[in-house]
Amino acid sequence: MSESRGISTICLLDFSTSAPAAKAGPAEPRPETFRRMLVKPLIAGNWKMNGLAPALAEIETVAEIVSTSLPNADVLVCPPATLVHRAVQTAAGRIAVGGQDCRPEPSGAFTGDISAEMLRDAGATAVIVGHSERRQYHGETNALVAAKAQVAWRAGLLSIICIGETEEERTREQHLKVCKDQLAGSVPEGASANNAAIAYEPVWAIGTGKTPTIAQIGAIHAHIRQCLVSRFGTAGTDIRILYGGSVKASNAREILAAPEVGGALVGGASLTAADFHPIIAAASAT
Ligand code: PEP
Repeated sequence: MSESRGISTICLLDFSTSAPAAKAGPAEPRPETFRRMLVKPLIAGNWKMNGLAPALAEIETVAEIVSTSLPNADVLVCPPATLVHRAVQTAAGRIAVGGQDCRPEPSGAFTGDISAEMLRDAGATAVIVGHSERRQYHGETNALVAAKAQVAWRAGLLSIICIGETEEERTREQHLKVCKDQLAGSVPEGASANNAAIAYEPVWAIGTGKTPTIAQIGAIHAHIRQCLVSRFGTAGTDIRILYGGSVKASNAREILAAPEVGGALVGGASLTAADFHPIIAAASAT
């Protein structure tokens, strides 16, 4: 990934700032605590198909707050493709900007689509792939999502790979298996914290105001972690697992403090700085 793009580091791991001191006391940090010390949470906003030019003012406000308050979080906003380049200019390296989808091919006769290289060219450093709205409205399969994640890495983008069960699958208690299968099919070989994050987004929680309990979030994040570690070994221990689905100011702190929650993917509440900033601030409080 090019060094000249200073914002690329915003979405990647930075082990330099908080390496644990050599054994000071009797208590060893538990693995989860230890990981939290090393890996900043990632708070990512997904604007979906919302936002015209005046909405860039929200990015300016968030970027300004982040650059002055220095929260303990990496902050990313994913506006519609039409705003990516202007969002990068507005953010000016204070927060990262990403795309919401990409096609696996670098270029070609694919009217209306956008490639990872194009996003990178516009200054993006990350891309969401496999969002449930893409899976549902565009018939995207796990294999396609994995291909998108792979090309995104080649283009130097962090992939945020979305998984999550439907309400019916949760009712039938299939959620663990559904997530395991989606992880197996959607996350390509070679995944690591430097090129991927997972977003667990129960479909029934997206845009509905409903959320799983904290215990349910903790349980499924632990399951996802186990799947990542059994497949990728040590590399699987650092991949951030974001929670997504009706995150807002009033529940962010509790959700972000749950075990194995390494950040949040936020839809509706990322559209204004007034709603998004408290979620970013909550990450510092965990
Ligand atoms: C999303 O679409 O990724 C999302 C989490 O939406 P919301 O926060 O609005 O539920």
